[in-house]
Amino acid sequence: MDFKSIKIINGPNASRFPSCTTLLVDGGDTVAVIDPGAGPEAFAVVEDKYIIDIIINTHYHFDHINGNYLFPNARVLMNPVEAGFFSEIRNVAKWLGIAEIFGDSGVEDWIKKVSDPKTRLTGYSPCYRHEWWLSTRREAQSYQYDREWQIGRVRVIMIHSPGHTRGFCCPYFPDEGLVYTGDIDLTGFGPWYFGSDGDIEEFVASARRVAQLDARWFLTGHQEGLLSRKEFKERLEQYLDIINQRQERLESMLREGIRPEEISGHGFVYAAKYQVDPWIAMWDKIAVRKHLNVLGMDVPDQ
Ligand SMILES: [Zn+2]
Repeated sequence: MDFKSIKIINGPNASRFPSCTTLLVDGGDTVAVIDPGAGPEAFAVVEDKYIIDIIINTHYHFDHINGNYLFPNARVLMNPVEAGFFSEIRNVAKWLGIAEIFGDSGVEDWIKKVSDPKTRLTGYSPCYRHEWWLSTRREAQSYQYDREWQIGRVRVIMIHSPGHTRGFCCPYFPDEGLVYTGDIDLTGFGPWYFGSDGDIEEFVASARRVAQLDARWFLTGHQEGLLSRKEFKERLEQYLDIINQRQERLESMLREGIRPEEISGHGFVYAAKYQVDPWIAMWDKIAVRKHLNVLGMDVPDQ
């Protein structure tokens, strides 16, 4: 599928995390990349043809911002909820969940490690990748939500879709009939709301709202890629149902007598063997907390 003013740039390994699918928007006098997480090799293809004026980030997660530093002369535009704190990495740490799970000393330790390019990486997450540091060095300006604006001649509306993060949004291009659904990604893994700023109910509501947009094409940020409106709608409920399956799993673990603070050790969303990676362990603990919250249960120290 070819779009008039938009090129889809896939990341390595079908844009699997920690890369993502990037959009190049050629608006004539203004050229933008949206979520430059497709990696340097992917950008080499367009490098000679375009000068990038603007980087637009849908949210602050690593897989969507890790290529910001590759375009040092471009302006960075972030969503209005996250723009203000984005270039202060301490805030990023807080929203990710580092403060919640590892405390203030965990935040300081993380900042020390990501700022040093020689830090040894962990096995299963981009936890200490130096691009965190490189790509959060510039002040970000913000765009507005839910209001039409233009990248050169291309009309775009950034649809505020909280839940994945508080500021997350989906770029919608009415002229192209295309919406970039980003991390409402329909993968078999299921919805991701495992940061301190993630919210299960909001994720579901946002995903259903995005599916109502008057678009012919829905492009996910990872793996699944471009889907017709019909395909997207059909698969969305199945994807959202993974949340219910997680909830059932948590409740059955409680019924088996597993204490709330032990659930994560058994591997709730991520198998226990992957939890040697500090971030995988962090995400699993936050996932347990959010699903306990659904039952109105207290959040245990784990
Ligand atoms: Zn994300």
